[in-house]
Formats: sequence, C-alpha cells, structure tokens
Amino acid sequence: MAFDLSKLLRPHIAALKPYSSARDEYTGKEGVFLDANENPLGSITREAFNRYPDPYQMALKTRLSQIKKVPAENMFLGNGSDEAIDLLFRAFCRPGMDNVIILPPTYGMYEVSAGINDTRVVKVPLSTDFQIREDEVLQAVDAHTKIIFICSPNNPSGNKLHRDAIYKILKGFDGLLVVDEAYIDFSDEPSFCEELDRFPNLLVLQTLSKAWGLAALRLGMAYASREIIAILNKIKPPYNVSGLTQQTVLQAMGNMDKLGGMVQDILKQKEKLIKDLGKISRVEKVFPSQSNFLLVKVPDAHKVYQQLIGKKIIVRDRSKVQHCDDCLRITVGTEGENKRMLQALNEVLEAQAND
Ligand SMILES: *Cc1c(COP(=O)(O)O)cnc(C)c1O
Repeated sequence: MAFDLSKLLRPHIAALKPYSSARDEYTGKEGVFLDANENPLGSITREAFNRYPDPYQMALKTRLSQIKKVPAENMFLGNGSDEAIDLLFRAFCRPGMDNVIILPPTYGMYEVSAGINDTRVVKVPLSTDFQIREDEVLQAVDAHTKIIFICSPNNPSGNKLHRDAIYKILKGFDGLLVVDEAYIDFSDEPSFCEELDRFPNLLVLQTLSKAWGLAALRLGMAYASREIIAILNKIKPPYNVSGLTQQTVLQAMGNMDKLGGMVQDILKQKEKLIKDLGKISRVEKVFPSQSNFLLVKVPDAHKVYQQLIGKKIIVRDRSKVQHCDDCLRITVGTEGENKRMLQALNEVLEAQAND
C-alpha cells in the first residue's frame, strides 16, 4: 500500500496560511518586546506569567526527546492528548464525507471528536477476549477511511492488543493508524514509537495524565513523521500548552525516578487488588490488565455502581459498553482507598446475595 500524506490531507489545510506571531519571526531572547500587547510590569500573581509561552515548547521537547528517544521534530505537544485527537480529525476528515474506524469497546473521545467534526464512525468491535480482528478491520476500510484508532493497552478492557495485528493493519492500510498508548508506562510492552521510522502512516499518542500524575496540567504527546507533525503544528492554536505547564513539566523531568517508583507502587497495589477481588465469591471476573485499572464483572453492575456511589465510592460503570456487560472499571487507588472500595463492594454484593 502506498501512503500518500498529501492525498490524505484536507485540501484547504494544505493551502492554509497559519497564524504567525511576531515571535515566530524573531526568536532571540534579548530585546524590547512590544509586539504582543503583553503587560510589561509583570503579573497580578507573585510569579510572573506576563509573557506568552513558546508556541513550539522547544525546551520541553528537547528534554522529552532524551527521555522518549524520539527526535523533537517528530513530536507534537497538545493540551492533553485529546487535543491531538481533535486536530487529527480537523486535518484529515472532511465533514460529512470521510470516516474513521474504531474498535469498541474503546476510549470514548474518538467517537466524541468524530461527532464534533461530523465524521462517520465505522465500528469493528474487538473480539470477546478484547483482541483486534485485523482482517475485519482491513475489510471495513473504504476510499473515505482516513484514520484507524487503536488503543493499547486498551481502555476500558485494560489488556494490551496483539502487536502482530497492529503491524498487519499498519502494512495493509494507506491511511493514518493512531496507536493510543495512554497506559504504556504500566505495560511490559515496548512503545510503538520505535516503529516510527518504518511506518510513515503511524502516529503514537501518549499522555502525562496517567502514570506521570499530571492530569491537571494537560499535556499530551503525539509522535509521528516530521510531515504529519508539521500539519498538526500548522493548525493548532498558537499557545496551546500554557507557560505554567511547560515550566512545571520541565522541572518534573528532573525527577524521573519518582515516575518509576510510583508505577511500581501502583502495579503492586494492582496485584493485591486482583488477589482481594478474587476472594469475593460474587465477583465473576477480573480481566487481565496492563494498565492502572481493572475491568471487573459483577452481578447487576449498574446497580452495584449506584450503591457504591451511595457509599461515596466512585468507579466507572461500563456495563452498557460492548462486550462489557455487567462490568465496572475500577482505577487502582492507594492501599487505603482500595481497602475502602473492597469493603464497600463486599457489603453491596453481600446485601445483593441476601436479596
Ligand atoms: C486518559 C486517556 C487519555 C488521556 O487524555 P488526556 O487528554 O491526555 O488527559 C487518552 N487516551 C486514552 C485511551 C485514555 O484513557
């Protein structure tokens, strides 16, 4: 299959002249900056935020590039990976004409973003053991299919998807294949970032919202060819990553030991949680997980979910989602939180048994 980015791109985006700030034209640090209508005196906060941030986040990308072993020019940073997802629709999918393929059950934002951008969603469900049916996926591709979204480890099932199936789709599809690796830090699977050189149609999404513990800062990464990254940069809002986020993340990257430590702690708590859930006889199934959450099957899950809320234990009700009948998605918490959740779940299920 021949991948031709210029054919994939919406024609008006190819012709678009992007917003250019004066800082795009003058990149020096020294000077008298009277170009952006900023406040020259400082900020109403103690720390100064009066200058617009670097629109391309170069300091951050340079450091992240060392950590991720991906060149900065193959990197796009967004206001969460959700921003990158939305920009992909806007760059490639002509409203009312094009379509994307998703593999339910999967992350909800692909379909929401498709809806916002008036793009049809073609669903090729995973198998009942939550694996890709790659032949069916390739058969579902038509002349208007622009993007296929694959989430691995998958949300909400938690498992990793077979690598061979992903390679087969990469090779057999001449549109863009997005591999969403939001949970990669919890997985024993290598990142698909290693494959960027081999596959011009691959885009990998990651986020600082999960393992890094920085959900409130909103920073997501997209890794792809220079050409694809250039398109995302062309259409993004100029200052999409705030100065506070850039500065805080840059500092955090001096602290990478803490990431590994937290991941180990969470994985340890997950193993304990799996064991403890296994001891509750009315828990019907705990699905294999390569992430920081567990998909758990219980009788009458929706009601259990509501009763847990009554006890101030909030989990995610996935019982109406494909292949997830009577399933709750439970994030691994601290030891104490998991204990409280288990106790509440035990009480609810006990009461249910005596009903
Ligand atoms: C949580 C999550 C994200 C993260 O989105 P952000 O906008 O970066 O917070 C992306 N993809 C999946 C599958 C997720 O579960």
